[in-house]
Amino acid sequence: MLAVTEDLLKNLKTKDGVCLMYVDGSWVPASDGGVRELVNPSDGQIVARVAEGTRQDAQRAIAAARAAFDNGPWRDTPALERAKLLFKLADTIDDHTAELSAMETLNNGKPLRETEYDVADAANCFRYYAGLATKPQGQTFDVPAPSQTMVVREPIGVCGQIIPWNYPLLMAAWKLAPALAAGNVCVLKPSELTPLTVLRLATFVDELGFPKGVVNIVLGSGPVVGAAIAESADVDKVAFTGGTKTGRSIMQAATGNLKKISLELGGKSPNIVFADADFDTAVDYALFGIFANAGQVCSAGSRLLLEDSIHDKFVKRLVERAREIAVGDGFDPKTEMGPLISRAHTEKVESYIKTGVEEGAKLETGGKRPPGELGAKGNFIEPTIFTNTKPQMRIVQEEIFGPVLVIQRFKDEAEAVKLANDTVYGLAGAVFTNDIAKAHRVIKKLRAGITWINTYHPTYNEAPWGGYKQSGIGRELGTYGYDQYTEVKQINVNLAVEPSGWFKDRESGK
Ligand code: NAD
Repeated sequence: MLAVTEDLLKNLKTKDGVCLMYVDGSWVPASDGGVRELVNPSDGQIVARVAEGTRQDAQRAIAAARAAFDNGPWRDTPALERAKLLFKLADTIDDHTAELSAMETLNNGKPLRETEYDVADAANCFRYYAGLATKPQGQTFDVPAPSQTMVVREPIGVCGQIIPWNYPLLMAAWKLAPALAAGNVCVLKPSELTPLTVLRLATFVDELGFPKGVVNIVLGSGPVVGAAIAESADVDKVAFTGGTKTGRSIMQAATGNLKKISLELGGKSPNIVFADADFDTAVDYALFGIFANAGQVCSAGSRLLLEDSIHDKFVKRLVERAREIAVGDGFDPKTEMGPLISRAHTEKVESYIKTGVEEGAKLETGGKRPPGELGAKGNFIEPTIFTNTKPQMRIVQEEIFGPVLVIQRFKDEAEAVKLANDTVYGLAGAVFTNDIAKAHRVIKKLRAGITWINTYHPTYNEAPWGGYKQSGIGRELGTYGYDQYTEVKQINVNLAVEPSGWFKDRESGK
């Protein structure tokens, strides 16, 4: 593994074996020389050493971004030129798919087939927003003569962007692409656990000639670097993806200068299966909904709602299929489900499983680490399914963010909707049925921002992503996501340049 590691990381910028941060167009160590070791979640081996930034490092990056926005060329660069650079960035990502996906698998643990998908998605996100940069954005209004009124969109300024570890490169793309396309400058903080692919992305940004200070990557912990970004009076907008609790503290920190905020937070999303659904399709997507990326997906279908009449048959088949999922190292081509991100997170998921059992839910399968080396050294938990749950149980209400499915049962459409909406979250939800009218009735009543009929999980750069209730504020992706990186300005033009006469001019008598 060491050889693979050294080869994979050879394109990152380092000093004394420590990966550097990208600030103001330069590669820098932490101001206090701090270093963090990154661990491969599959085997506990140290894979890289990276700079552990400080509050001062965050402030330096923010100052560089501020200068780049206030005095620099980016916002005055024609949209077409910004678009060209973003298209080149997209192509460069595609050209490095093998390297980026292997790096992501090494750092995050998820199987190669998932990281390859993520890399392609990240490239397409840059491509989508590169295309959007040159498209008409404004409005004009037919107002009483002799005026003309128009509305233009302008960049907000310095955008602080804080992202999680579950899709490291993709989340960076979701943040950087719309912000840069709209003419903003960025200070991005990846998760302290998974900065490698974002650092590689920064080498592309550097080589492609983005002006200095336009993209800054600061590494470090949330409470230090993340909080410094959220608090800074020089940051005009903070965009955050992560847990709901952290989102709350970001929102509080942002009040100082009333910066714009967008929050993409957690979920406990319902996947509703009616008795008339296509059985094999619904089983297949129930598995995909919760066990993709080992359940570490904000929109995971972590609550499966089954109609009474199919409950037992469905659970039996689901358990059989869950037991067949190949759990293992993400580099093993046979692997279908990888590890959890860290030992601490694994223990948190295990404590939820223990709570579920204590609450009286029935553990149908999983609930433990796999036997042997895998479970001993890596952060693996077997696909886990609970039945016999009650709505108020903690495992039903709280986001576990692991491969743990809780099953609820319902007698009719009304009860399905009631149960589906009965958490503080509102990120996603799905319904499986062959009755199209019923599908739409249920979706209409779901208090969630992302919904699916007879499928689970597809995400498109074209469509808005975000949640109702405590799953967030605002939307990413699509034109909605672009709008959230712009200020709206109205311009009123007087087409008859003469005094209004509102106050009498005594000299001229008019
Ligand atoms: P997290 O909230 O612990 O961390 C996310 C980021 O915030 C990290 O970069 C972290 O360093 C930083 N951070 C932590 N404390 C901070 C603070 N006080 N101030 C500023 N920044 C701080 O979340 P995580 O464990 O990395 O990710 C998992 C969570 O992310 C889950 O709850 C999941 O649902 C959510 N998520 C949501 C979406 C979405 O689109 N809605 C997508 C992916 C993940």
